[in-house]
Amino acid sequence: MKSYYKLCVLIALVVSGYTSPIAPRADKDRENIAVNYLNQLYGLPKQTTSDAEKRSSAMSLRLKEMQQFFRLKVTGRLDEETLDVMKKPRCGVPDVAAYSTFQGDYKWKKHDLTYRIENYTPDMSVAEVDDSIKRALQVWADVTPLRFTRIYSGTADIMISFAVGDHRDGYPFDGPNGFLAHAFPPFEGIGGDAHFDDDEKFFYRSPQGYNLFLVAAHEFGHSLGLEHSQDPGALMYPTYVYRDIDTFVLPKDDVDGIQSLYGPNPDITGPKPTPPVTPNKCDPKLVLDAVTMLRGEIMFFKGSFFWRSYPLSATVEQHLITSFWPEIPDHIDAAFESPLEDKVFIIKGEKVWALYGYDIAQGYPKSLSMFHLPRKVQKVDAVLYDETSYKILFFVNNQIYSYNEEQRRVEKGYPKAMEDVFPGMTGKVTAAFQYKGFNYLFSGSKMFEFSAYNNKLLRVLNNNYFLPC
Ligand SMILES: [Zn+2]
Ligand SMILES: [Zn+2]
Repeated sequence: MKSYYKLCVLIALVVSGYTSPIAPRADKDRENIAVNYLNQLYGLPKQTTSDAEKRSSAMSLRLKEMQQFFRLKVTGRLDEETLDVMKKPRCGVPDVAAYSTFQGDYKWKKHDLTYRIENYTPDMSVAEVDDSIKRALQVWADVTPLRFTRIYSGTADIMISFAVGDHRDGYPFDGPNGFLAHAFPPFEGIGGDAHFDDDEKFFYRSPQGYNLFLVAAHEFGHSLGLEHSQDPGALMYPTYVYRDIDTFVLPKDDVDGIQSLYGPNPDITGPKPTPPVTPNKCDPKLVLDAVTMLRGEIMFFKGSFFWRSYPLSATVEQHLITSFWPEIPDHIDAAFESPLEDKVFIIKGEKVWALYGYDIAQGYPKSLSMFHLPRKVQKVDAVLYDETSYKILFFVNNQIYSYNEEQRRVEKGYPKAMEDVFPGMTGKVTAAFQYKGFNYLFSGSKMFEFSAYNNKLLRVLNNNYFLPC
């Protein structure tokens, strides 16, 4: 009885899928988006009562659960942040709990599993689909004793198909830009099967659209018994995020999840790739790559991730950089916001990208030479934008170059020794930003607070001062 109930819940939730960004809409549309989302993913009853008060309190409760899962500010209201998350491409399996497995209830009792590709999407060649599916399964085989054998007829453990609309499992797809895929956890019959919505456009190697390898690898996580994870770096995070598929290594959170069900891969003897770990803002050894303002928010960059902090709110969100800007590399060197241009500049090596809100500005990346630094400067450690003078300070080793944004040239008398500009600052600066009349320089795990008016050192703080634990 228990497993029957779980199955129903799962399938009901599996139906929702990946939604794509939607243009601003009227309030009614906003509410429809929210109601559909919460119906399918958070168990909001479809048959709503005519009692408006009861309806709104049921809605508010589900909104709070959803906000909690995504670590948003828990308001119970349909605010912009919440709506933004609802519009993100995602998978349809529920987020009702933070468990990484279906509480261990669903797992294969054998290690040798079969799969069969029943049909193909016209979006890609047969060889490309075959390769995407094979590699998506291999992601899981690499870290477990599970082995996958392809069969071409009969019933496989994992039956893979592309379908549109009603495809006779009771959970119809919904045309373009709706649900992308769904998969069933391990059990008899349809268990383990993965269905892909062929009204979507799937790609083999492009960062545009939906990458079949990434979607399939996520769905196969469900086929093997994993639920969604709250870790924004996990493959099993509910929203679709593009990642570089050539360098993809299954993140630590997913490895831990699948190994809790099946154990590690006994065949690996040599060195294995290190699974990426999502950085923790409370790690006392955290060293930040770059910090910048972005239209009133503070963005802290580390590795493949950034945190987004809203002043006046304790809420800090963590995201993969590629979930906002697929073109921006990880491990950036520096970032700063230019209020004159209303752009955020991201620097890595000799390349400079410009962000215009959440878009990449046209004509970028450009060369670091756009700032007229001497040719020998091929990498900067940090950049600070001084709003009081419209000057951009480039930190290069222990020197500082001051670039005048209005006159478009490096100022006379530079470079200067860092200690002459910021007395008391001796260590290597990895990130810097200006906020409310203070300059903050990050070095190691510390943050140095200077007055922006006379550059006097005021305090030495831990570098998660703005990232509360
Ligand atoms: Zn999923
Ligand atoms: Zn289906």
